[in-house]
Amino acid sequence: MPNSLTSAASWREEFAQAVREVDELWRLLDLPVDDLPGARAAAEDFPLMVPRPYLSRIRKGDLQDPLLLQMLPQGRERDFVPGYDDDPVGESLATCQPGLLRKYHGRALMICTSACAIHCRYCFRRHYPYAERPRGPAWWQPALAAIAADPSVEEIILSGGDPLTLPDSELAAIAQAAALVPGLKRLRIHTRLPIMIPQRVCPELLAWLSDLPLQAVMVLHANHPNEVDAEVTAACRRLTAAGIPLLNQAVLLGEINDSASVQLALGERLLAAGVIPYYLHVLDRVAGAAHFARSDDQAQALMAELHRIAPGYLVPRLVREVPGETGKRWLWPMAEN
Ligand SMILES: *Cc1c(COP(=O)(O)O)cnc(C)c1O
Ligand code: SF4
Repeated sequence: MPNSLTSAASWREEFAQAVREVDELWRLLDLPVDDLPGARAAAEDFPLMVPRPYLSRIRKGDLQDPLLLQMLPQGRERDFVPGYDDDPVGESLATCQPGLLRKYHGRALMICTSACAIHCRYCFRRHYPYAERPRGPAWWQPALAAIAADPSVEEIILSGGDPLTLPDSELAAIAQAAALVPGLKRLRIHTRLPIMIPQRVCPELLAWLSDLPLQAVMVLHANHPNEVDAEVTAACRRLTAAGIPLLNQAVLLGEINDSASVQLALGERLLAAGVIPYYLHVLDRVAGAAHFARSDDQAQALMAELHRIAPGYLVPRLVREVPGETGKRWLWPMAEN
């Protein structure tokens, strides 16, 4: 087992050794062979990828495991469902130059990389044209120049893909260049990596984050309490010890976390790691993910129940992404106007 402060080589090794073959997943988890052909077909549209630390939290032989379902290719993804398409949140409209999204007031979103540490089957980016996104300083320098030219931007959000798949040397270069942009106050990182591969919270990452003259904020992404094991908790504590506020966003997923009791258990597990539940997203209607959907009525009823049983700080905001709007639409609590 890796110790709590492992070197950068160790997370890279985990990343390189992630399971990418459906047949290997079936072998490792003793899954029923009947479901294998559908999985193979679905993985042709959107490849399987799952890192081994996350796999180790999954019950063998259980096709209903809530962690398995998040990354399991399934034949039913290929069913055509009206209303589910390839760009459900209108990102292709909001792109003003490669790698930069200007959609939210005061915040600029930099798409750092196409890579993720896991391929989530419900992801709205599963059809995103990543190949068009250039890499290295050649993309982020013009993106930062565009941000510097707009004094209304106070926050840069590093997104993707998962920005923490990039090496710390490149992230530190982006962060240090961002720190020189006048008017910029915050650097936010949206990442699932500390949950997937907790070794990613390595000394190199902590070093550049701690040195940053901007306020850093990290928004993690865990959907189920089983994702937050002792290693993940330790990784989160390394981040909070470095002064980084941690928030979590989850996606409301049928058969995975669609009950108030699971949401409360998730919130409690996160809190013990120093992470506050921030957003619960209703599913973006992306083709291939319809089987995860729950209605707004079901989602709002869940929130009302969670509000009844949980302390307020463990109740996230239920939100939806609406094309063209400059912030999230709140579904719970309900906006008064
Ligand atoms: C909602 C969202 C944002 C903006 O987040 P706020 O917390 O509402 O400021 C940025 N990036 C992505 C991918 C989002 O979904
Ligand atoms: S962008 Fe986030 S939700 Fe989408 S596949 Fe990557 S880690 Fe999963």
